[in-house]
Amino acid sequence: HSGNGENWTKSTCAYCGVGCGIEARVAADGELMVRGDETHPANYGRLCSKGMALGETLSTTGRMLSPSVHGQACDWQQALDTVASSLNQVIAEHGPDAVAFYVSGQLLIEDYYVANKLMKGFIGSGNIDTNSRLCMASAVAGHKRAFGEDCVPGNYGDLEMADLVVLVGSNLAWCHPVLFARLKAAKEQRGTRVVVIDPRVTASCDIADLHLAIKPGTDVALFNGLLTYLHGQGLVDQDYIAEHTKAFDKAVEAAAEFAPISKLSEVTGLNEEDINTLFHWFGETHRTVTLFSQGVNQSSSGTDKVNSILNCHLATGRIGQPGSSPFSITGQPNAMGGREVGAMANTLAAHLEFGRDDHHCLLSDYWGCSELATSPGLKAVDMFDAIEQGQIKAIWIMATNPAVSLPDSERINSILADCPLVIVSDVVADNDTLKHADICLPAQGWSEKSGTVSNSERCLSRQRRLLPTPGEGKPDWWIISEVAKRMGFASAFDYASELEIFNEYVALTAIANSRESSLKRQLNLGGLGQLTPTEYQHFKPTQWPVSGCSEPSRLYADGRFSTQDGRGRFVAVYYQVPALSPDNKFPLMLNSGRLRDQWHTMTRTGLSTRLNSQDFQPLLVLNPEDARSKAIEEGDLVKVASQLASQIFVASLSNQISRGQCFAPIHWSKSHCSSAKVSSLIPAFTDPVSGQPEFKATPVDISLV
Ligand code: SF4
Repeated sequence: HSGNGENWTKSTCAYCGVGCGIEARVAADGELMVRGDETHPANYGRLCSKGMALGETLSTTGRMLSPSVHGQACDWQQALDTVASSLNQVIAEHGPDAVAFYVSGQLLIEDYYVANKLMKGFIGSGNIDTNSRLCMASAVAGHKRAFGEDCVPGNYGDLEMADLVVLVGSNLAWCHPVLFARLKAAKEQRGTRVVVIDPRVTASCDIADLHLAIKPGTDVALFNGLLTYLHGQGLVDQDYIAEHTKAFDKAVEAAAEFAPISKLSEVTGLNEEDINTLFHWFGETHRTVTLFSQGVNQSSSGTDKVNSILNCHLATGRIGQPGSSPFSITGQPNAMGGREVGAMANTLAAHLEFGRDDHHCLLSDYWGCSELATSPGLKAVDMFDAIEQGQIKAIWIMATNPAVSLPDSERINSILADCPLVIVSDVVADNDTLKHADICLPAQGWSEKSGTVSNSERCLSRQRRLLPTPGEGKPDWWIISEVAKRMGFASAFDYASELEIFNEYVALTAIANSRESSLKRQLNLGGLGQLTPTEYQHFKPTQWPVSGCSEPSRLYADGRFSTQDGRGRFVAVYYQVPALSPDNKFPLMLNSGRLRDQWHTMTRTGLSTRLNSQDFQPLLVLNPEDARSKAIEEGDLVKVASQLASQIFVASLSNQISRGQCFAPIHWSKSHCSSAKVSSLIPAFTDPVSGQPEFKATPVDISLV
């Protein structure tokens, strides 16, 4: 698909949930040149440092080149036969819930769709979960509670139309840099007010009119305080609440916990003046976008935090209006696509749901399966617990590295070491998870595979093949389908191309939304029809629901939600402290997150010299006062100990973090640095609704090495 006659091919960036369009072509020296796609609605030509360095991360060194079984290289036939017969044997002996898939936001929609279809539809278990559980499961749960469906109502353009943008638990400048650039440009043009709510001073504060260095984990108190203020000042939209919502009074009653403001100030650690400024600005500004990310989601009360934000938007009727909406921004290139095709343990494809007979019937009929899972499977952390307890005997891990990324990661390593059967599909030959693999399956990487992804504003884009695949790597959808056929499900997985899968998924969303159907979902791609190969090849970024209109769509603009009665739901939420609090033994609260130029466990960005030049060491950011009390100086090696483990970091002293807190990046693993693995310090406490782990509130002690 040429961009301009010079053989530039359009595709989508491999990294964050902004989902920027790129154009690429192979230079004379064989390197892939990458530039921003000026026509893509996510970025209009912009790229961040990671996107620009995509071509530098495609080394064929270190790639997994052929399948192997128990360390012996073999051909695909043998590997696929072994996977299929091993899974069938476990199922025959222990039942369908004894197997599990742990998949990834790096998979494409087509991969995700068939993985979910095999596990839920044909194996008959709900045990498929995704590393998106670590990223935005709380946003999913919050959306479903408030709107009746997991939908982000707004668009990126709303950040440019807003008069007030509140960033909560989001370092947009580093984690979603192109969106930050769009916001910054809008602020320069129209004076948008920006508020950052984050315990740390981050790069996003560079454009903030107000930074609220909130005490970790106290967001529900702050937004409950805001709801109380809006109600008390008569700033809620009474007509909207009466016509379009339910349970406002209960939410207000719960929110009153933190009146007066002095009490709120004490709990959140914020001064009263700053709290009043936020409340005043929010109250008076109809065009407000509240954008939230991992600081909200990665919490033992993440779902309540999400609903405390949604409550304030419901109360003011600011949902899906131009420049006015709550906005969950996701971490991975296809986190939304995974949500849409149901590859989380507690959802079904096309936003259909467990516990609804009509949804079950529709999906069983459509897939022609008699074994559709009838109840949700185990969420990520519970899935690994079940392996430890011997309930799950076989796990197939695809395109993710849980031995580094899950909390309590040393335990995850022991669990994988003891699991009777570990199958791993990946592009690399070596990482912390692959060390435990009995069967290794080489997959195609970004630039080699072909399919679609869905970004944080519900926009589907193509990832296109740009380079040949080294060795015998195959598309994930192909690997899964070939295993499914050998397990005895040939007719349901007889796909000749990724397009056939995409068309099947599109038609499913259409059937769920047909005129006769009472199941109406916002997720509807039916307007696409069935694409021909040429149409799929030239597919342009398209936002759902597919309406045929060229303007970006917003959801719930008419106040009609996806609940059965069409009303949005307030949720009564109460502030809860994080699972663990600092004490004498572990006096500092450890926060974790990304660096600007690195990605996840660095299996890709770690290959780029350019990306490695910025802060390329495992830093522990500390307040100088806390450092002084331990005689720690800039650049010293420090031991960080939690109740689980201890790791070594390089001290970086900064007033950008408050006393009593510290911050470490998530990226390092045994493969890159033997002793700076943050996830080994973090206990696996999860949100009771979403199952998302608490990654940002771990009590630790520090000492000089
Ligand atoms: Fe890629 Fe995200 Fe950067 Fe865009 S903002 S270029 S999607 S990493």
